[in-house]
Amino acid sequence: MQEEVKQVEKYSELLHVDIMDGKFVPPITFQAEEIKKIKSKIPKDVHLMVEHPLTEGWIDRFKDAGASIITIHWESKDNTNEAIQAIRKKKMKVGISINPPTPLYKIVPYLDKVDMVLIMSVNPGYSGQNFILPVLTKIKHLRKLKPKLDIEVDGGITKQNIRKAYKAGANIFVAGSSVFGKADRKKAITDLKKSLK
Ligand code: ZN
Repeated sequence: MQEEVKQVEKYSELLHVDIMDGKFVPPITFQAEEIKKIKSKIPKDVHLMVEHPLTEGWIDRFKDAGASIITIHWESKDNTNEAIQAIRKKKMKVGISINPPTPLYKIVPYLDKVDMVLIMSVNPGYSGQNFILPVLTKIKHLRKLKPKLDIEVDGGITKQNIRKAYKAGANIFVAGSSVFGKADRKKAITDLKKSLK
């Protein structure tokens, strides 16, 4: 994993880490101890796809692992306000995320309390899925509501659709298989960035 990070960190602005607990979604990904070992010149942007980000200690463990940003899901089972406050208290940036079926209005009450909204453009759980196009409408509405908020889009980003997400209003793009699925990571990232222009 350290080798993979070395290959991409020069060309990327954030190191996005998908954390799954086997309950919120079936797969289990990394433990905080594994992420702590990763040395990264760019900030660690931790996306918690877990049922209990607060009450099971995920926020504390990923603070310790060096996270700069922690994003929790509106669909998780802990109290959203309390989880947001816990991340703030630990001096990290806060993101809130919604899955494709969740309407935007559910997170409107939290928009002034977070630094970033992560719009899931696939159903979470597995890499390599296709981008769900109607999610673009959600991004457009959110951008109208919040002209300056960071809007991150995650799932199925390719050179074919990244510009659509950008035009809808997203300004942070998470790429998984469209980078790590290619042998030449530098070219893969450069191609994605070129497609934005
Ligand atoms: Zn993610």
